[in-house]
This record gives sequence, C-alpha cells and structure tokens, in this order.
Amino acid sequence: MKHVVTVDDIEKSDNKTLYYNFDDVIDGIDSDGNIKASLEIKSLGEFIEVSGNVKGILNLECDLCLKNFKYDLNFSIDEMFAKTALQDEYGKETELRSGQFVTDMNGEDDIDVYDLLYQYVILNLPNKKVCGINCNGDIFTQEDEISENKMDVFKNIQIQPKSK
Ligand SMILES: [Zn+2]
Repeated sequence: MKHVVTVDDIEKSDNKTLYYNFDDVIDGIDSDGNIKASLEIKSLGEFIEVSGNVKGILNLECDLCLKNFKYDLNFSIDEMFAKTALQDEYGKETELRSGQFVTDMNGEDDIDVYDLLYQYVILNLPNKKVCGINCNGDIFTQEDEISENKMDVFKNIQIQPKSK
C-alpha cells in the first residue's frame, strides 16, 4: 500500500498542515499488528516539517537468550525536508538544530511516509535487544555446567566492553 503525501496536498490543506494517520504493516519490520503513526506534515515555505508519534509492537529476538519477545515501540518523529536542493557544502543530510535533520527532497514533489517510517523504526530499535530484566540467556545457563576454572574465563570475557 502506498503512503505518499504530495507537497501539493500539504499546501492545499488548512494552515498548510496535513494530518496523516498511518495504520499499516511495514515490509521488513516484524510487528505484532500494525505500526501506527499520527503525523503532522506542515509546509514552512522552503521546508516541510514532519512531526508526530509512532507506536507499535515489534517481535524481536533477545540477543542473550535468542527468545522472541514483544518490544513496545513508542517514539517521536521530527524531520525537516528541504524542497529545493540544499547547498552542496551541507551534503545530503544537514543537522538544522540538535537532533533534527534536514533531508533534501532532490526535486521530488512528494514525501514517502512509508519509507520515512521504515527508516525511523530501524533507527529506534534498541542497540541491545534484551527480552527483560529476568532474562537468563543460554550463555549463562551453559556456564553452570562448566567447571569453575572455565567459568572464570567466561567471566573475564563478559567484562570486556562490547565492540561496536
Ligand atoms: Zn533473553
């Protein structure tokens, strides 16, 4: 299903603000039910601002015990699109103010809400996926069966910071 908003639609709306409700699944995102977003898409002349909230329940796999668990997704969107090409020196994505990026529309006259939401969901996934505070991963269960000497080695490995 297409979820595209044209600049024309936005500018014809009252106060040049279009309210867009997204309630659909997103390809490549394993969700339990639909991803829901209520977005305010506002034309500010040269820029188009997309803000709002995104919610959904994702099916994730725990990094420690590999168990599937439900993750409550809930985050805000605040994104600026530049209608005309930004100056070259800024590159494709420019930070307008802290945490807010401007995306060059490259002469396109519409905004792909579906694609925007996909990217935002991916960005908002937790770095470390853990099923819960009571997670006892296979790693730890296996350790119990290993002799004490070997367990010390395991402990040392675990203290090391995870490389990025
Ligand atoms: Zn777990």
